[in-house]
This record gives sequence, structure tokens and C-alpha cells, in this order.
Amino acid sequence: MFRVGIGHDTHRLGPDRPLILGGLKIEHPRGLIGHSDADVVLHALTDALLGAAGLGDIGDSYPDNDPKYKDCDSQMFVTETLMRLSELGYRVVNVDLTIFAQEPKLGPIKQQMREHLAALLRLAVDAVNVKAKTGEGVGAIGRAEAIGCQVIALILNDPFIDPLFL
Ligand code: MG
Repeated sequence: MFRVGIGHDTHRLGPDRPLILGGLKIEHPRGLIGHSDADVVLHALTDALLGAAGLGDIGDSYPDNDPKYKDCDSQMFVTETLMRLSELGYRVVNVDLTIFAQEPKLGPIKQQMREHLAALLRLAVDAVNVKAKTGEGVGAIGRAEAIGCQVIALILNDPFIDPLFL
């Protein structure tokens, strides 16, 4: 049985923060503000995976007032969610991401991010797609005040899945 999930997230850009997107540290004078490392890409990805499995949203599992997650690496949200899906018999088929950022320009790192996310998700690179759009100068994203991300994920209930594959 196939199931689909969608995720969306937005974080504000501000000074004195590292910019971490899709698990990659990106050289930029400003970073995303949030309780964790504010990796908007991995938060949207986690929500898409949780949504596909009917497991609520990222705030249910990782409350943003829990000191345990202060400045934490958001890759743990994805890895833990994958384990939960695996325990329920699901594996990920593919994910498609769109990142909305006026700056920095993400074209040069899209492929690197794709490969990094594929490794994180234990997927072939062609099962992960990363698209980047600017805000066309419109709204908070267009003024480079924020970065947003949308993700859609397809998962499959596979009775032959090895729950220890992670
Ligand atoms: Mg978030």
C-alpha cells in the first residue's frame, strides 16, 4: 500500500546563526532562527514522512520548547522518523523538495544536497529531488527575511522490509 505525505516549513533569517539547509552547512552571513538548528528543509521533510505514516506533525514528536532539542542537529528528526516508519513496515519510495530562498543562491549546491539527503534517507540519488526557487522579490522570502521549504514523500508498506535495515 502506498501512502503520501506533505510537509512545509518556514524559518526567519537572522545574524549570528549558521545557515544549515538539508543537513549541509552553507557559507552565508545569516542563518535560520529557531529552537533547533532551524533546518527548514529537514523539518519539512520530517513532516512529510510523519504525514505519510499518519503520525501527526514534527511539533508533536519534537516540541520546540523541549531543551533536549535546543540547537540540535535536525538530521536526528529524520533518522528517528525513518526508524518509526520502518517499525510500522514502511519504507520511503521517493521524496521531492522545493526550497524557497531569495538568498543564498542554491543552484550550485542542489546536487550536493540531493546526494546528502539520499544518504540520510538510505535512498538512491534518483529517488530524491531538490528544486530551488527564489521568492521573485515578493513577500518575506523575496525580501530574504525567511527561507521556506515544501516536501512531498511517497512511502510504501512493505511486508518484507527488514526492520533492522537502518
Ligand atoms: Mg521548523
